[in-house]
Amino acid sequence: MSLPRETDVLIVGGGVMGLGIAYHLAKNGVRDVVVLERSYLNYGASGRNGGGVRMQWSTETNIRLMQESIELCKRFAGELKINIWLRQGGYLFLARAEAERARMERNIALQNRCGVPTRLISPAEAKRIVPELEVSELVCAAHNPRDGIVFPWPFLWGYANQAAARGVAICPFTSVERIVPTGAGFRVQTSRGEVRAQRIVNAAGAWSPEVAKLVGIELPNRPHRHEILSTEPLKPFLKPMVSLLSSGLYFSQSMRGEIVTGISVEDHDDGHVKMGSRLQFLTKVARELVRVMPRLSQVKVLRQWAGPYDVSPDGNPIVGEAPSVPGFYLCCGFVGHGFMMAPVVTKYYGEFLAGSARPAFFDPWRPTRFAEGTLVKEEMILG
Ligand SMILES: Cc1cc2nc3c(=O)[nH]c(=O)nc-3n(C[C@H](O)[C@H](O)[C@H](O)COP(=O)(O)OP(=O)(O)OC[C@H]3O[C@@H](n4cnc5c(N)ncnc54)[C@H](O)[C@@H]3O)c2cc1C
Repeated sequence: MSLPRETDVLIVGGGVMGLGIAYHLAKNGVRDVVVLERSYLNYGASGRNGGGVRMQWSTETNIRLMQESIELCKRFAGELKINIWLRQGGYLFLARAEAERARMERNIALQNRCGVPTRLISPAEAKRIVPELEVSELVCAAHNPRDGIVFPWPFLWGYANQAAARGVAICPFTSVERIVPTGAGFRVQTSRGEVRAQRIVNAAGAWSPEVAKLVGIELPNRPHRHEILSTEPLKPFLKPMVSLLSSGLYFSQSMRGEIVTGISVEDHDDGHVKMGSRLQFLTKVARELVRVMPRLSQVKVLRQWAGPYDVSPDGNPIVGEAPSVPGFYLCCGFVGHGFMMAPVVTKYYGEFLAGSARPAFFDPWRPTRFAEGTLVKEEMILG
């Protein structure tokens, strides 16, 4: 694709956020859109994630958005002509400590008020849902049968193909290197020449602080390496995504039978994105996994990989127009849940940039909240 020299909206980042916004802009009549991705599409977190989609959250904003997002996932094949392999096998959160029970009770009450059918269940009931679980250390569990998993890659193909079909210029291997605000827009220097843009969307995920710096903005989000692995395929036996609140371990079984599991490991934070795999992760995840499901002790690991979580101080995203640079929009800080939120977030973001009303979630997620000191922390972060 040759690089357009002028555009209305220039999107930095060819991950699920950038491509989703591009699709929704085009769908709503804004066809003068360019997506610049410095590597191949989905090089970042979007091509490396675990595909979990859930309504079990601790803030009303996140619960309600995820209810809508899962509904949008169900309609994805019809709208974007591609199967995302949504399987609603539920999410089962396990608690080992009494303090976690109190947290679960509080969150379940809020989820139920929003219409999510999560239930607090006993360890024995958890074992009825997943008979292979070792439940002797558990105090209780939370189960929502409507949560699930998707296969991440078709999201990219669906958004990218349908955006391109509507005239969006998608340019992989094109890095944004310099941005000069001109008063009436921006001059953007890329690795393949200059583009003039009226508006810019920073959808560069864990690299978004670097991109924001190009226009003099200091963002508070930090990259955090998150590692994950997949095993040889096993005969299907595991319906829900299972997660331990205490350690952040999670695991599910893919449509092809592999066990996909991840957990966060301490890392040196120097502000740079790191995507190398470590033995330290392999030993930590293996120990935790076998403790809760001893049956998996003999399973063979096929591959492990890492990707960047884009971590904001309160665990919530950063969206909207940057107050100090008119025309420069942010869509970042999605930690470990940007994939599941992309269907709903990119729909409203695209509609907003095409002229519709400012979406309600722009308020709790506004970039100014950090300076104002009005943070509402999301508790249900996995990792
Ligand atoms: C291992 C792992 C497991 C996860 N599991 C889940 C899960 O189960 N469920 C869930 O919902 N979420 C999960 N996530 C989180 C989710 O993947 C992310 O929140 C989401 O993909 C973020 O999308 P994005 O488009 O904002 O960023 P990314 O996908 O990271 O895209 C940003 C893109 O910007 C590009 N870029 C950066 N700088 C420049 C530049 N200067 N010029 C041009 N392009 C640039 C990068 O190359 C990159 O491709 C997981 C993440 C990881 C790493």
